[in-house]
Amino acid sequence: MKTLSTQDKQIILDSIRDIPDFPKPGIIFKDITTLLSNAKAFDTLMTHLENRYKTYGLDYVAGIDARGFIFGSILADRLGVGFVPVRKKGKLPYTTVAEKYSLEYGFDEVEIHIDAFGENGCCSTGKPAKVLLIDDLIATGGTAKAATNLIDKVGAKCVEACFIMELDFLKGREDFNAPVYSVLHVD
Ligand code: AMP
Repeated sequence: MKTLSTQDKQIILDSIRDIPDFPKPGIIFKDITTLLSNAKAFDTLMTHLENRYKTYGLDYVAGIDARGFIFGSILADRLGVGFVPVRKKGKLPYTTVAEKYSLEYGFDEVEIHIDAFGENGCCSTGKPAKVLLIDDLIATGGTAKAATNLIDKVGAKCVEACFIMELDFLKGREDFNAPVYSVLHVD
């Protein structure tokens, strides 16, 4: 099932909990811990993602710190490819490449190991490694755009950015530097 049935979409949607005013007043936080603890919803989601991406010829799945690690590492294992973490600044032990992005107030920074996708980001054929980027949610898109830039910077190619949920009203997919796929959309 490359395309999710309305019923399966609803199973996943119903498993995600809304927490009003977290982490600050006015934000409705989409809590995916209730999706992770719901075996049926979690398997429905991961099987859909496996079916969608098994024909993409991916070399790696890259997940964004921290919830993207959960979905990304399981998907990488199901597809038989490697997993690469995109981490918040200061967490990776080897030589890193960094990218800053703006938040509502101030800046944040994400990093990746310079050799995360092999030397110069190339796979054994000498071509740029094909990478799927994944995170739980796209809001303004700032975090994911920075992560996509990092994949480019180390010489690999982001073939798609995948999110479990997209907050459509924040228009994060506009001017995105790779194709965007979101399993669920919220207005
Ligand atoms: P953005 O850079 O604005 O697209 O924000 C995306 C990052 O912030 C993702 O890593 C999300 O996990 C997190 N995030 C932003 N807004 C929410 C929200 N309403 N509920 C849950 N996570 C959020």
